[in-house]
Amino acid sequence: MTSADGLFAAQALVRDASRVVVLTGAGISTESGIPDFRGPEGVWTKNPDAEKMATLSHYVSDPEVRRRAWRARLESAAWQASPNAGHRALVELERRGKLAALITQNVDGLHQRAGSSPGIVVEIHGTIHEVACLDCGERAPMERALERVRAGEEDPPCRSCGGILKSATISFGQNLVDEDLRRAQRAALSCDLLLAIGSTLSVYPIAGVVPLARDAGARIVIVNAEPTAMDDIADAILRGPIGELLPLLVAEEGE
Ligand code: NAD
Ligand code: ZN
Repeated sequence: MTSADGLFAAQALVRDASRVVVLTGAGISTESGIPDFRGPEGVWTKNPDAEKMATLSHYVSDPEVRRRAWRARLESAAWQASPNAGHRALVELERRGKLAALITQNVDGLHQRAGSSPGIVVEIHGTIHEVACLDCGERAPMERALERVRAGEEDPPCRSCGGILKSATISFGQNLVDEDLRRAQRAALSCDLLLAIGSTLSVYPIAGVVPLARDAGARIVIVNAEPTAMDDIADAILRGPIGELLPLLVAEEGE
């Protein structure tokens, strides 16, 4: 539980900051109906086998893994999901001119749907709204690929080269996009407050922006229901539901 003192301290850190960098994880989208991976109700907590679909070598070598991945994409809760109060609080932070960058590990696109400017969002683990060919790199809208699956193609190949198609997300064993990682690191180096929300902060290299910001002099605030890997370097920690805590955190005095 978050104490009133903890909330007060975190609010003061946000109020005093002028260049905030936010790092979000799956926890900000669970209240929109998209399960996280490692939380108590997480996809991997309940079904460790699901991790295979997110591992590039399994995806490439095993057609059955790909067929299962396509079926899972068809049924994904993400297509029906709408942004929640947590996403909207970050739009408010941007409106106040405080938000320098919004780095998200999420692939659901809900920050942009909520109204965050695409120009400040870094989708460090890619997006499910597009597919990418693992052979020729061509990208296309996810919806077109899903239509092919609905029409009976269990593992639709690339239309240009016949290669393997995958959602345009970063799987385990796949490199991040260099330019995205550099943008995230540059932002972390020049912020005065790093706000980490809804992440276990255990997925690297992106979790590394938290100590990077701290070493460059920024204050660190963490909002998460459970302990994270970076709690020991945080200036304030808020534990509880993100959809309730974030609006309070960014609220200005008198609101
Ligand atoms: P994670 O699953 O490792 O951790 C999520 C954390 O959020 C957990 O500690 C959980 O306790 C906390 N949490 C969940 N709901 C919360 C709530 N309502 N209020 C407060 N805390 C809450 O997530 P991660 O660190 O982002 O890493 C998972 C990886 O999987 C990411 O790289 C991401 O790309 C991907 N992923 C994305 C989505 C998405 O796009 N929505 C969903 C699942 C996984
Ligand atoms: Zn191709």
